[in-house]
Amino acid sequence: MDIGFIGIGQMGKHMANHIWEAGFTPHIFDIHKEAATPLLHKGCRWCASPEEIARTCRVVFTSLPTPKDVEAVVYGENGIAKGWKSGDIYVDMSTNSPSVIKRIAADAAKMGVTVLDAPVSGGTRGAEAGTLAIMVGGDAAALEKVRPVLEAMGKKIFPVGPVGCGNVAKLVNNLISLACNSASAEGFALGTKAGIDPAVLLEIIKVSTGNNWSAQQYPNTTFKGNFEPGFRISLAYKDINLALDLAKENNVPVPVSIAVAKDLQDTIAAGLQDKGVDAVIISRENTSGVMVRVP
Ligand code: NAD
Repeated sequence: MDIGFIGIGQMGKHMANHIWEAGFTPHIFDIHKEAATPLLHKGCRWCASPEEIARTCRVVFTSLPTPKDVEAVVYGENGIAKGWKSGDIYVDMSTNSPSVIKRIAADAAKMGVTVLDAPVSGGTRGAEAGTLAIMVGGDAAALEKVRPVLEAMGKKIFPVGPVGCGNVAKLVNNLISLACNSASAEGFALGTKAGIDPAVLLEIIKVSTGNNWSAQQYPNTTFKGNFEPGFRISLAYKDINLALDLAKENNVPVPVSIAVAKDLQDTIAAGLQDKGVDAVIISRENTSGVMVRVP
């Protein structure tokens, strides 16, 4: 199977590497060619554009920042749509808008191309370890064809329904995890200011009802003052806004998510958009005059 992979970023570099290690030879492209250098040294093949990837490969994967980037890669001047052949499969692993990927799937179907949306969870560590959770929307037969490639990147593959449903599951997951991220920042700033050692607080939370993934990362992130991404604040803000759009489309009230969006927006306004998502705590630290650090 000729495999294409577009978007060799924080996630894509690990995902494409696992595809390589599973014995496939991915054809790769990124607007920043230097991002692909380590994979090219291993023997992955460079293509000059998404169109060339689509002409060369029967299955193309993307891991791109925003819905606009996905649309550019699909519909752009040298986009994959220019190179699609009947029978091809396109798998978008970005966190994308369900309505955008559904529109792409409808356009692709006219050319005999099947689209799956297969966003992931597990962070850059899960991508590096090959243990991502992958939520797949779209045709079951196409999923079975690409399953060996998905299994190289993640061990938990969930078929969730028609195309678009992968992103519905992903946006719901991120709505919950980003709320936990903001709540943990708030709780740890308060607990530390009120006199508790944050390391002790974490040990309590981990075996109590406040346990959550964000707090579990603190020994590697917040406690060390290490806010390098990982998962950038700007991407988290994109995801919460996609969740708010989904909520509007479905007429579901989401007051907590509105507060989380405001928290991320304030963090961006403070110039922290390229930091990791744990950096929401920095504004709390600044306003409350406390640092949540463990020497
Ligand atoms: P990233 O910005 O690090 O990587 C994206 C890559 O896409 C970059 O290398 C960029 O140069 C490339 N790119 C952008 N536009 C392009 C174009 N038009 N053509 C070709 N390449 C282009 O982002 P990331 O953190 O790897 O995230 C990728 C996707 O995965 C996002 O949708 C994100 O929301 C999702 N995601 C990220 C994480 C995480 O922890 N970082 C976790 C789960 C899901």
